[in-house]
Amino acid sequence: MTHRFAAALAALALAVPAAHAQYPTRPVTMMVPFAAGGPTDTVARALAVSMGKALGQTIVVENVPGAGGTIAPAKLKNSSADGYTLLIAHIGMSTAPALYRTLPFKPVEDFEHVGQVVDVPMTFIAKKDLPPNDFKSLVDYVKANKDKVTLANAGIGAASHLCGLLFMSAIQTDLTTVPYKGTAPAINDLLGGQVDLLCDQTTNTTSYIKSGRIKAYAVTSKARVPSLPDLPPAAEAGLPGFEVNVWHGVYAPKGTPKPVIDRLVAALQAGIVDPAFAQKMAELGSVVVARDKATPDGLRNHLKAEIDKWTPIIRKAGVYAE
Ligand code: ASP
Repeated sequence: MTHRFAAALAALALAVPAAHAQYPTRPVTMMVPFAAGGPTDTVARALAVSMGKALGQTIVVENVPGAGGTIAPAKLKNSSADGYTLLIAHIGMSTAPALYRTLPFKPVEDFEHVGQVVDVPMTFIAKKDLPPNDFKSLVDYVKANKDKVTLANAGIGAASHLCGLLFMSAIQTDLTTVPYKGTAPAINDLLGGQVDLLCDQTTNTTSYIKSGRIKAYAVTSKARVPSLPDLPPAAEAGLPGFEVNVWHGVYAPKGTPKPVIDRLVAALQAGIVDPAFAQKMAELGSVVVARDKATPDGLRNHLKAEIDKWTPIIRKAGVYAE
């Protein structure tokens, strides 16, 4: 080894850890796989503020919607593994492998897992002038009017798609589904009366339910949601065993250096207990995860367990996207 080469190597060895030690020196981008104003976007924007505070840098939210939320993870896979591009994604990371015949990424193998964020129940909501007034009558109405009732979702792989799929399977009735780039645009059409029904996360629906601009029938969690006490769980209101809980995780490109991941994990853990974040999440019916879940292992293990849980259910329902 020449003297000069050895010196260069030594300089590199010093420079690399130093670069990590200073991370982040510029704004970090957090991709959201759905349209602005929707449930994932709402969690992302609140988290960007609290996590950014802990990181000492701005986190910029970038909406990369489409294909039921599968375009953003594909983009993350091809992003630089330097900690400046991240992704927040939900339960769809565990259902997409079963739903898509060809998926350009593997959720467990292709990413670094930073940690889980929040758990969010969903709500069955409808346009204001849909006749039924309770969940049981809604099921009867939908069955009797299956040729005209429309069910919105945010594309194959979205939580709203999964919930709708389970709903149609539980009531053994197929409806016409209408895909959007996120449930923010879906709810706009629900408000305008262009679609009838939607199953969407409380992070998006709570304010509309409270202001009475839409009808709400049930929650998808096992127990009632404290911020929406009037809504029964669907499992108690006619669909025994029905349960969908949406969870969110933060991902980084594979190969992101360990010191950078460690910084992100610390910022995530500080971010989720930040009072402003925690309070906003509670108001929107969602629950911040315990600290041991806001870790790479916490997210990876949950992701694997959810893939194992949903794959047979989706296979049985026989739905696929190309
Ligand atoms: N999370 C999606 C959104 O932000 C909605 C969904 O998954 O249904 O619009």
